Amino acid sequence: SKFVVGLTGGIGSGKTTVANEFERLGAGLVDADIIAREVVAKGESTLAEIHHRFGDQVLAADGELNRDALRQQVFSDESQRQWLNNLLHPLIRQRMIDQSQQQVAPYTILVIPLLVENKLQTLCKRVLCVDVPVSVQVLRTSQRDGVTNSSAKAIIARQATRWQRLRAANDVLNNNRVLESVAKDILHLHQHYLEFATQSYP
Ligand code: ATP
Repeated sequence: SKFVVGLTGGIGSGKTTVANEFERLGAGLVDADIIAREVVAKGESTLAEIHHRFGDQVLAADGELNRDALRQQVFSDESQRQWLNNLLHPLIRQRMIDQSQQQVAPYTILVIPLLVENKLQTLCKRVLCVDVPVSVQVLRTSQRDGVTNSSAKAIIARQATRWQRLRAANDVLNNNRVLESVAKDILHLHQHYLEFATQSYP
């Protein structure tokens, strides 16, 4: 089976930036956020099931899922939220496995923002955590998304803590530095992963 590295990190930590650099070096790239959108794309039976349960208000005029409307429906309703998670999580999980194994690159970087929260360590042979202090997460998230510091902090408060992610990690990438320095570490990790991929890594 393919050597799969799970890449995680809090909001604004730099997962996308780091994953793109691994891809540039030749790693295969799979993104849990993209898969989560694919499983509810127009035409998927999963979207029909969601429509059937929640009604017309969760569909946009063009027939796509209205994510904001669905989020509002499950926000204050624990049983609806559970129904939705029970529907989506196994599908997303299986697609992550399939797409990771189908990569032609020597190994796969599987980006899972909520790896720790959803206990998805078993999908990968190693876990790489992109790490920055919370203050840097707040700064970069608010600058990138044009949101206030307090709304960035509110999202961070709902995620696993920095320490929980670090405890789950085999490898840690310090992204609180200029990108040139980070890129050097990414190259070293890439060389390690290439080597591991050719061994019978358990
Ligand atoms: P999200 O979880 O919200 O999707 P992410 O973890 O994928 O975020 P990125 O989008 O890669 O994070 O990075 C967040 C912001 O920080 C971006 O604007 C990015 O350009 C910037 N950034 C990433 N790494 C660095 C760095 N080493 N130095 C300065 N800015 C950085």
